[in-house]
Amino acid sequence: MHIKELDKQFVANTYGRFDIALVRGNGEYLYDDTGKEYIDLGAGIAVNTFGAADSQWIAAVTQQLMTIQHTSNLYYTEPCARLAEMLCSRTGMKKVFFGNSGAEANECMIKAARKYSHDKYGDGRNTIVTLKNSFHGRTVTTLAATGQDVFHQHFFPFTEGFLHITANEPADLAILTTDKSICAVMLETIQGEGGVNVLREDYVRTIADICAKNDILLLIDEVQTGNGRTGKLFSYMHYEGIKPDIFSTAKGLAGGLPLGATVFGEKTESVLTAGTHGSTFGGNPVCAAGAINILSRLTPELLSEVEAKGQFVREELTSAVGVVGVFGKGLMLGIETEVAPAEVAKRCMERGVLVLTAKNKVRLLPPLNITWDALKKAVEIIKEVIAQ
Ligand SMILES: *Cc1c(COP(=O)(O)O)cnc(C)c1O
Repeated sequence: MHIKELDKQFVANTYGRFDIALVRGNGEYLYDDTGKEYIDLGAGIAVNTFGAADSQWIAAVTQQLMTIQHTSNLYYTEPCARLAEMLCSRTGMKKVFFGNSGAEANECMIKAARKYSHDKYGDGRNTIVTLKNSFHGRTVTTLAATGQDVFHQHFFPFTEGFLHITANEPADLAILTTDKSICAVMLETIQGEGGVNVLREDYVRTIADICAKNDILLLIDEVQTGNGRTGKLFSYMHYEGIKPDIFSTAKGLAGGLPLGATVFGEKTESVLTAGTHGSTFGGNPVCAAGAINILSRLTPELLSEVEAKGQFVREELTSAVGVVGVFGKGLMLGIETEVAPAEVAKRCMERGVLVLTAKNKVRLLPPLNITWDALKKAVEIIKEVIAQ
């Protein structure tokens, strides 16, 4: 049976897939089962940080795979310990918990924020404020955290204790000082699934100040924005003087293997104690080896290339026919077009370019090492299809 028919018959029908089956790749080039070539501007939704089948990453992963693939968290392993050290030394944070996905990284962040407050203040101080239009994951709790009504259906009862306020709206922040049940604010500095909406510097600054004054924890969801995607190692680093009490990351961290991390700062490093949280696969040595390879290559030079490539796309498209606006940072870009985003994605696919959509925008999340040639070619094709 053909791949598509098999999938339709036996895989749970939760995805609206594009009508192609991808079978292999090389860097920013992907190939379907008919041999057609595509320039990949999606990177598996910001996962394949250095593209498909990257040789350095394969070497790091296979070396670990041939050594030992898994041990359980009852034992120490070197890749997990080294990766945690790397994350802390690159961010100034103190401790890391490893899980397997973005949702789990956020679950851990939510649990830790509530435990921090409960340890210190006792019952009744457990509300977490999140932003409208956010996306934090698909578990019952992270859906509750997600500030979009479309996600609050079917699965009742949802986890209590989340309050959604409007992003970039300072007037909504009054609640942080009046509602004494609030223990944390959780945000994406750029709302990815929500349509590549960038939070303003002054807005984040105000939140951070209120949080610091009231011992409310600042939680930053770097699942999509992390690992070099926006031109900084983590996106909060674009915001002068901002440091989260906890941040979560996943997607691009291990370059294509499932790995999530919850990273704790000074205030929160000792909140989770033995037995309070865990994960069977979390910190898996193969995934950790992949992540060590990825992080070690996110050098200042690579990050400035990400900035430069993002700037190029922004300049090319801002003035293009059919473009309403270009949003985002680095290689996390949202393009508002006159033609509907789904139609743009379809036309691009026909022309051999894979793009994503997010709400009212065409979303670009290419591999960070995409070649200038491929990027220029893809941008030309996007320009042509959106001008129609
Ligand atoms: C993708 C995403 C998640 C969920 O990650 P999964 O690995 O799918 O669980 C959470 N937060 C943000 C900001 C994301 O982009």
